Amino acid sequence: MLRDAKRFFQHLGTRGQVVLCQSPLTLFLVGVVVAAKWAWPGLLGSPLFLASCAFNAMIFLGCFLVPWERFPPSAWLIVPVLDLAGVWAIRNAALDVVPGLSLLAIFPIIWLSASGLHARSSVILSFLGPFLISAPSVLERWPHPTASDISGVVLLPLMMLAVSLSIHFASANVRLQQRRVEQKDHKLRELLAESRNRERLLNTILDAVDVGIVAVGPDGNPLLTNNKQELFNQAATPSAAGTVPDESQQLLFSQDRHTPLPPEKRPIRRAAHGETYANYLVWMGEGPNQRAVFTAARNMKDEHDGGFSGAVVVYSDVTDVVEALTSKEELVSNVSHEFGSPLTSILGNLELVLNNPGAITPTALERLEVAQRNAERLRSLVSDLLLSASAVLNVHPRQTDLAGLIENSVGSARAQADAANVELVTEIPVPLWANADPLRMAQALDNLVSNAIKYSPDGGIVTVSATASDERVQLQVKDTGMGLSQDDAARIFTRFYRAGAARKAAIPGAGLGLSITKTILEHHGGTISCESSPGKGSTFTLTLPTRGMNAQGGLNLEAGPA
Ligand code: ADP
Repeated sequence: MLRDAKRFFQHLGTRGQVVLCQSPLTLFLVGVVVAAKWAWPGLLGSPLFLASCAFNAMIFLGCFLVPWERFPPSAWLIVPVLDLAGVWAIRNAALDVVPGLSLLAIFPIIWLSASGLHARSSVILSFLGPFLISAPSVLERWPHPTASDISGVVLLPLMMLAVSLSIHFASANVRLQQRRVEQKDHKLRELLAESRNRERLLNTILDAVDVGIVAVGPDGNPLLTNNKQELFNQAATPSAAGTVPDESQQLLFSQDRHTPLPPEKRPIRRAAHGETYANYLVWMGEGPNQRAVFTAARNMKDEHDGGFSGAVVVYSDVTDVVEALTSKEELVSNVSHEFGSPLTSILGNLELVLNNPGAITPTALERLEVAQRNAERLRSLVSDLLLSASAVLNVHPRQTDLAGLIENSVGSARAQADAANVELVTEIPVPLWANADPLRMAQALDNLVSNAIKYSPDGGIVTVSATASDERVQLQVKDTGMGLSQDDAARIFTRFYRAGAARKAAIPGAGLGLSITKTILEHHGGTISCESSPGKGSTFTLTLPTRGMNAQGGLNLEAGPA
């Protein structure tokens, strides 16, 4: 409201403003003249009164006619000063007839004080003006002025001074507030411009990166989607749908590329439920344009209560990597498979020949035994390769006494241990029940025990120990052999990885055993880790659930990219 009035006043221009400010006094004087016709008819015959009226009328006319814009900005202040003179004239012309006209000085005084210009002069004028207006009546009756004359000459100027000071303080306060509001306004504008710049920068970055990004609110509705993500969404849009549908209708498939992902397993739905995940592989779209996408989600926290306020989901295209890995696995699987038949034939024929030792010379027998040993090694290698390349690893866990498996494993490694001058020790509670597939666990244990012996080239002690709780069984295979660096210990579960020391020492191996062991443990819901220090030995720790979660006919778990 106040702002509208101010805007209206500013739009008037200097002339309009001066006329408007002068109007109250002029209207009041017109009222006095009109009233004089009936109330004080004699007054209209007084030349002094008429002259003072003419003086005031000229001031009003001057407000209209003076080209204020040609004068300095505060030139119009002359008008309220002239007004004081006009009030002086009319008050003293009508002093005996109309009392109280000196109060008209309030109009020019308000004008002067509210202008905020030349503060000191206007305060002085607000006292001096009324004083001079009232002074003639005192002088006229001097040396016997009446009490009302004296109060007029003292009280009126003081009153006007008080009015002027109040207006000064009030308008100074208003101006201060206004300045503060303007400063805040300026700061807000700066912040707004800065946040727009940041938004532009963020949008540029979002559209420049080669990953799809979606920010969703707590209800799972997208708040922001970058260009790359639009492309993913288009690929996942069914051909019958005109526009990009929401996630529940998109063509999203699980790792086999064909089974549609159930709604609760879709990336955005999972993120909207507050899940944080990474490397979650989904296939988007169908046919030749189908893309393999790794998704990851992170929660956003509310600034005030720290609650869930949405999530950011990131999609990265890994189609080329996944297809390269699949081809590699297919190659390994095909080659291993092709090796299988000739090897079986070689081993069968060798066995036939070796079963009839009388038919060959001792030297040939010796050579054939070497050939048989190496063919056996080759077969075990091919079987490891086949297993590690296989997309499906069947595990059939059931209540199994691990103590028996460990004894068997240690028993079969004894010959290898004796040859390597390694002592085998077991510290196992009997029985040791766990939810395990006996065949697969035996495979895992054989691998760990034979590794422990194999990587203790200078002999030593290999200890297999176990502890059990209601929840889990923990097994440890510890050796005092060559050990591993920190870096190697972190990588030995990767397929085909072999530590530099093992290669340098020319210890035979293909780097497959531990990756298969890890897969077996994971398929049981267990874990495997390695602690080692070079030259001091290694400890492999396995955990397995004591009881099964449910009866499984076989876990069909797909191998992820290595
Ligand atoms: P392989 O023994 O056939 O090379 P593995 O997957 O069983 O394959 O082991 C991978 C690598 O881990 C080995 O090449 C070796 O460098 C290291 N390693 C495994 N077990 C031990 C151990 N007990 N002590 C030291 N190094 C080991």
